[in-house]
Amino acid sequence: MIRRLVQRVQDSVQTLLTRKPRSRRTPKRIAAAEHGIDRALVSKHAIRTCETLQAAGFRAYIVGGAVRDLLLGIAPKDFDVATDATPEQIKPLFRRAIIIGRRFRLVHVMFGNETIETSTFRALGTGEKDTDEHGRVLADNTFGEQNEDAARRDFTVNAMYYDPTQQEVLDYHDGVRDVRRRRLRIIGDPEGRYREDPVRMLRAVRFAAKLGFEIDAETREPIGRLAGLIENVPAARLFDEMLKLLTSGHAVGCIERLRAEGLHHGLLPMLDVILDQPQGERFVMLALSRTDERVRAGKHIAPGFLFATLLWNEVLKQWDARVAAGEHRLPALDLAIDRVLEAQTEKLAIQRRYSSDMREIWMMQPRFERRNGQAPLRLLEHLRLRAGYDFLLLRCDCAEAPAELGQWWTNFMNADEETRVRMTQQRTESAAAPRKRRRGGRRKSGAGAGTDTEATAGAEGGDANG
Ligand code: ATP
Ligand code: MG
Repeated sequence: MIRRLVQRVQDSVQTLLTRKPRSRRTPKRIAAAEHGIDRALVSKHAIRTCETLQAAGFRAYIVGGAVRDLLLGIAPKDFDVATDATPEQIKPLFRRAIIIGRRFRLVHVMFGNETIETSTFRALGTGEKDTDEHGRVLADNTFGEQNEDAARRDFTVNAMYYDPTQQEVLDYHDGVRDVRRRRLRIIGDPEGRYREDPVRMLRAVRFAAKLGFEIDAETREPIGRLAGLIENVPAARLFDEMLKLLTSGHAVGCIERLRAEGLHHGLLPMLDVILDQPQGERFVMLALSRTDERVRAGKHIAPGFLFATLLWNEVLKQWDARVAAGEHRLPALDLAIDRVLEAQTEKLAIQRRYSSDMREIWMMQPRFERRNGQAPLRLLEHLRLRAGYDFLLLRCDCAEAPAELGQWWTNFMNADEETRVRMTQQRTESAAAPRKRRRGGRRKSGAGAGTDTEATAGAEGGDANG
C-alpha cells in the first residue's frame, strides 16, 4: 500500500520534472453552439473526405491549422484530415487518391485543384534511438491512437480535431481555450520539443506574427538558448519553413520577432549581415512589406523574386568588390552571383528553378541601364522582364538606382511601338553627349555605375535564356 503510494508520488514528480507531452486519454468535446465554427468556411471536399471515411466505418476529422483558423473565423488555406484508417484503407475509397511519403506515408485525396492531405493517427516517438545527439527526431513512422496523434503535434491550438458530421471539436490540450486567449503554447516540455524538432521555434514565431498571438512565457523561454539548434535542420526543410514564413503575409512581423528571439542569425546565412547594414535592411524590409501586401491581396508570390531581394545586397557587395579589383562589370556580376548562390545553397537548399530565376533577375539589372538603340527593345522580349522590372522599381524606391531610370522603363513599357523607337533614339542622341554629364545621381561607384557603352558587350552574354 505504502509502496504503491510512494511509487505514485515518484511518478507524479517524474511527470512534473520531464513534462512529457501528456496524452490526455479522453478529449474535451465541444459542441457547435460553443465553438461557433461557421460551416461555410469549411471546404466541401474536406467534409466529403471525412464523410466518405466515416461511411466506411472509420473515424475521420479535420485537424491542425484548419481547425485553429476556423475557430478564429478565418478561411483556412488548406485542409488536413486525420483518421484511424491506414493509407491502404483510405486510397480505394476515393476516385483520385495517391499514397505519398516514404518514412510516413499519407494520402493525397484530390478534388479538382484541391488536395486534402489525409493521414493516419501517428504514435508518439518510441525513444532515444530515433533521435540525433541533440534530441532531434529522425524517424517517426508508427500509427497510433488519436490521443497520441494529438500529443505529438506542436502547439495546443494546432492539436484540435473537428468532426464536420457531428459538428464537434475534440480538444486534448485546451486548444480552444488558448485560441480564445490568443496564446501560443507548446504541447509538453518546451525544451524537449524544440530539441526534437528545432523548426518548431520558427513555427512559434510564424504563428505568433501571423495570428497576433502572444507566445506563452514557458514556451518562449528556451528559444533564445536553443536558437543554435536550427543549424542541424536539413537545408531543404529550412528552405520550406523560411518560404512559409516569408509568404505568410506577415513577413515583416516575422523578421522582427525572429530578431527579438535571436533566431535570425544563421537562418539565411547572410540575412543577419544584411539586416545589420542600414542600406541592406531598407531594401529587404521594403521588399518584405511589398510581399506582405501582395499575399494579403491574394496575389501570387514568386519565391525566386523574394530570395533575389533578400540576397541582393550581398550580390552588390561582392560585385562592387570585384569591379574595384579591376574585373569587367558583367563577368564580375556573374561571378558574384555564383559565390552568393553557392554560399546559400550549402545552408538553404534553394531549388535550382528558384536560383535560376534569381540569376536572371540579377543579371537583368545592368541591362536596364542601356536605353539606346536596339538593347531596350531586345530586353522587352525577355521572358522574365516583369520580374526584373519589378526588381528595378524596388531598387529605385530605395534610392539604390535612380528613380528616373525606373520611370523611363515604366514609360517605355507602356508606350506604343513608335514611341518606343523614338525613346531609344532620343537616348542614342544623348548618348553621344559627354558621359559624365549623362549620369547624375548614380550609385556611389563601382559595379552599378557602368555606362551604357560598357554594359553593351556583356549584356548580350548575360541574356541567359531570355
Ligand atoms: P498553416 O496555416 O501555416 O498551414 P498549420 O498549423 O496547418 O499552419 P502545417 O505545417 O500545415 O501547419 O502542419 C499541419 C499540422 O501538423 C499542424 O497544425 C500541427 O498539428 C502539425 N505539425 C506540423 N509541423 C509540426 C512540427 N514540426 N511538430 C509537430 N507538429 C507539427
Ligand atoms: Mg496547414
